[in-house]
Amino acid sequence: MAKTLVSVLVLVALLAGCQQQAAESLPLPNLNGPVVSTPPAPTPDPSAPKPSGKNPPANNARPRIAGIPDEWLPRVRANDWKWIVIHHSATPAGSAAQFDRSHRQKGWDELGYHFVIGNGTGSRDGQIEVGSRWPKQKYGAHAKTPDNRFNDFGIGVCLVGDFDIDRPTAAQVRAVAKLAAYLMQTYHIPPNRVIGHCDAKPTDCPGRHFSVAQIRQLATHLAIGEDDQIENAVLRMAKLQTQQPASH
Ligand SMILES: [Zn+2]
Repeated sequence: MAKTLVSVLVLVALLAGCQQQAAESLPLPNLNGPVVSTPPAPTPDPSAPKPSGKNPPANNARPRIAGIPDEWLPRVRANDWKWIVIHHSATPAGSAAQFDRSHRQKGWDELGYHFVIGNGTGSRDGQIEVGSRWPKQKYGAHAKTPDNRFNDFGIGVCLVGDFDIDRPTAAQVRAVAKLAAYLMQTYHIPPNRVIGHCDAKPTDCPGRHFSVAQIRQLATHLAIGEDDQIENAVLRMAKLQTQQPASH
């Protein structure tokens, strides 16, 4: 019964783009900002006992999902992340290095996203590239709004592709769900704060064929260890993209 319900929800999510998400029974995105008060930087206490040996990572959260790469674990104090903001590149091809170049050409400091998920063009299909901001836990440059809350406290994740035309690949769906699940657990981000760029401001991003609601659901399954729910849902979401012509 529960599986049937999940299947129905997945089908609904499959049919829904960003614009229709409000009609779904899934939790609505929570756009209420955090109380914008930057937590005070820890003041070094000279009388405090010095840790022996190497400094431990400031982010003491330990991954509970298998296979988390080291490069996802920043060695500096974590930013106070409140959202995961999903984008598409709106280009058929690309990679972190390519977007880094184009963002710098626009006069930005560096790649605006924290993570880029490849589609097999500029990087491997489903490869999660860590942007140069992430190890520094630097605010993003991907979702500008008047108060800049989604840049200041939003982890920017960009999937390579134009999802107004194409669909994400199965490998991309799997990758973004795993990444979102890890980030939700580590930074205590609730599912309703996994949003699309279009939830932050009027834009088509991440494209009408991309369902943020479904990623939210997949990531939640993963975060609570229901890995068995993932494969069918991933395949359904990416079905049109991955369907091959019948072989002869
Ligand atoms: Zn975007």
